Amino acid sequence: MIVRMRNPDATVEVAGPMRVGDLLDHLDIAPHTVLVIDGGALVVADHVLAADAEVEIRPVISGGAGGLTCIACGRPPVLEEPRHRAAWCASHVVDHVHNQIRKAIDHAHGTDHNERMFGYADRVIVAVSGGKDSLALWDALLSMGYRVDGLYVGLGIGGYSVRSQGACEAFADARGVRLHVVDLADTYGYTTPSGAVATGRSTCGVCGLSKRYAFNRVAIDEGYDVLLTGHNLDDEAATLHGNLVRWHDDFLARQGPVLPGRGGLQARKCKPLYRLSERETAAYCVVRGIDYVVEECPLVAGNSGHEHKAALDLIEAGSPGAKAQLLFGFLDRQSRVAPQVGSDDRAADLGACAHCGLATVSEVCAFCRQQERIRAALPLLDAEVPA
Ligand code: AMP
Ligand code: ZN
Ligand code: ZN
Repeated sequence: MIVRMRNPDATVEVAGPMRVGDLLDHLDIAPHTVLVIDGGALVVADHVLAADAEVEIRPVISGGAGGLTCIACGRPPVLEEPRHRAAWCASHVVDHVHNQIRKAIDHAHGTDHNERMFGYADRVIVAVSGGKDSLALWDALLSMGYRVDGLYVGLGIGGYSVRSQGACEAFADARGVRLHVVDLADTYGYTTPSGAVATGRSTCGVCGLSKRYAFNRVAIDEGYDVLLTGHNLDDEAATLHGNLVRWHDDFLARQGPVLPGRGGLQARKCKPLYRLSERETAAYCVVRGIDYVVEECPLVAGNSGHEHKAALDLIEAGSPGAKAQLLFGFLDRQSRVAPQVGSDDRAADLGACAHCGLATVSEVCAFCRQQERIRAALPLLDAEVPA
C-alpha cells in the first residue's frame, strides 16, 4: 500500500494487508496524534487496509515550536524527534528508548516472527566503549531486567582510552555489575597506533579488526549466549549507505541487527539500538545521569564513513524519517536485494583458525595474520627509535 504522511510530507510503501493499528505501530506513530484516511474515508485502529490501499496519515495535533508537549503525558518535553512526529518529557524519553529496544529485541527487521535477539535466561555481554550508545544500552537492559555483563577493550589511544575505561568502570562499580577488560597491549603486545605503524594499515582498520576479535574471544571463552554492540540507527544507515554506494554485495548480504553465531567459532551478535538515533541515546544518558565520554576518538579524523553520516544527516533534515526508511526498508527486502551468497556454502567454508581456533574462511584468521605482521615489524620499529 502507499502511505502518505503530512507535516512533513513523505510517502512510503508498506506491504499489506495490515491493520491500521499495526501500520501506525510499524511507522512509530502514536495513534492519538493522527487521523487515518483510507481511500477518502476515516478509519479506526481495527480496520484492515488492503495491499493496494492508498492511505493518508494526517497529524491532528497542532502547534509547532513552542507548543509541543510530551505525547505520553502532555507535560513540557525535553526531546523532540521529527522522525516520530513526537516529543517526550524526561521520564517518557526513558520509556520511549526502552520501547524501541524492546521492539528491536522481540521483532528485529529481517528475523522470523518468533526469533528474539535474546531472552531473560540468556547470558548477555555488551561491548562498551565508554560512549553514549553502549552505556545507554547497558543501562537500559539492566533496568529491563536482563542479565548483562560488560566488556571494555583497551586500545592504547592515550588519555582517550584511559578516560573511556574509567567511564566504563565507574558505570559498572555504581551498579555492582561485572566488567571484563581486555587490554590490547597486555594481551596481544600492541596498541592501535603501534599496530597501524607496524602493518601500514589505517588505525581504524587495525582497531576494528582487533575489537571484533577481542569481542568474539571473550564471548566464546566465557560462554556468553550473545554479544551486543551499541551500533545505532545513524551508524547502521551510514554503513548501509557506504555499502550501497560501493556495491559491496558481501557486506550488504551480511549487514543486519542479528548475526547468527557458529558453535564455538563465532558468537551470536546483535544490535538492539538499531532503531534509535544517536540524539536519542545521548538524551537518554543525560536524563538517566549516565556519565559517558563525550570526546571523540582522536584518531577518527578522515575515517571513511563520516561522509555517509553527513550526507544522510542532510537528507534527514529535509526529510525526517529518511534514515529509518532506508535502513528498515533494506532489511525488509535484504533477502531479495542482497541474497546471502549460499548461506550454507558460507557456513561450510567457515572453519577454525589454525592458530587461535576462532572462525575464519581461510586457514589462519585475519587477526592472527595481522598479529604475525605486527610481531615481525615491532622489534624493528623499536630499534629505529633512538634510545
Ligand atoms: P564504533 O565502532 O566506535 O562506532 O563503536 C561501535 C560499538 O562497538 C560501540 O557501540 C560499542 O558497543 C563497541 N565498542 C567500540 N569501542 C569499544 C571498546 N574500546 N571496547 C568495547 N567496545 C567497544
Ligand atoms: Zn511525559
Ligand atoms: Zn586466529
